[in-house]
Amino acid sequence: MSGPLYPKLAVVGCGLIGSSVIHAARAAGVVGEVAVADASVAARSRVVELGYADKVCADPAEAARDADLVVLAVPVLAMGEVAARMAAALKPGATVTDVGSVKAAVAEALTVALPEDVFIVPGHPIAGTEQSGPDAGFAELFQNRWVILTPQAREDDPYLDAVQRLADFWRALGANVDRMDERHHDLVLAVTSHLPHLIAYNIVGTAADLEEVTQAEVMKYSAGGFRDFTRIAASDPTMWRDIFLANKDAVLEILGRFTEDLQALSRAIRWGEGDKLFDLFTRTRAIRRGIIAAGQESPEANFGRDHRGS
Ligand code: NAP
Repeated sequence: MSGPLYPKLAVVGCGLIGSSVIHAARAAGVVGEVAVADASVAARSRVVELGYADKVCADPAEAARDADLVVLAVPVLAMGEVAARMAAALKPGATVTDVGSVKAAVAEALTVALPEDVFIVPGHPIAGTEQSGPDAGFAELFQNRWVILTPQAREDDPYLDAVQRLADFWRALGANVDRMDERHHDLVLAVTSHLPHLIAYNIVGTAADLEEVTQAEVMKYSAGGFRDFTRIAASDPTMWRDIFLANKDAVLEILGRFTEDLQALSRAIRWGEGDKLFDLFTRTRAIRRGIIAAGQESPEANFGRDHRGS
């Protein structure tokens, strides 16, 4: 390659995902200068201390000026406002992407806010941990993980080239890249990520509210399945509030199915239908083995950290 894929990268929102993009892009040598914008004073001074950005500012427009690639890594419901603030500063021909966990709502917000002479390519890396902030990022986060791009319905060559370049960028960061319609993305993620988080938040809340079981007992005996839920339920409250509000339709649809299935399980337990329970648990065990076989839960992929997708 003659030079970096993107001579200037701007990242707005330098938390877990934003800082991981910077670490991984620097390690892969696919970016030149890096500018960061973040609303948090504490996050900005930490990024300055850590020294992984060339420029750190409060105003997204200042970071995005002259950037070839802008990555929006703020909570989902903040994407539109951030895009509107930087719209006038964007260079014609720049690519604007995001890493938000919901795609239809973000794609619409970006399309409304941004000028027509930039390339909007929404995206979502299915990788994460329950840590937040500028210290949480690391270069290997995207290794062997999927990144889903949800490009606009455009067939012109400059746009297709921009999508291809962004896919090359993510591959250079170690990820596998898929393309998907944004509504389908939101339905898939409602099943694989959003509903599991809702269940975790709910069960931890239920345990906390029980009167017959003490908090001390919940902590002491948490190895019996509960501990894994507490890890998921420790995820960032702002991020997850935004995900449920922005992906309301898909989450409610999957939640409806889930509730029906839970009723069926409850009936099977009440009537002693052991075969039904055994059949379900056998099917679910096969799904777990399939995930391991697909390399999405291996010690190598985890780098000793607790990886998840959101
Ligand atoms: P994070 O660690 O909390 O970082 C977000 C950063 O953005 C924080 O420093 C936050 O500052 C800042 N911010 C919030 N609103 C802003 C605004 N309007 N303008 C500028 N900066 C703003 O979050 P994250 O986990 O990296 O998540 C970022 C995005 O990635 C979200 O859209 C999320 O859905 C998506 N995502 C997350 C994961 C995951 O597992 N964490 C995985 C895949 C995708 P404050 O602290 O002051 O709010």
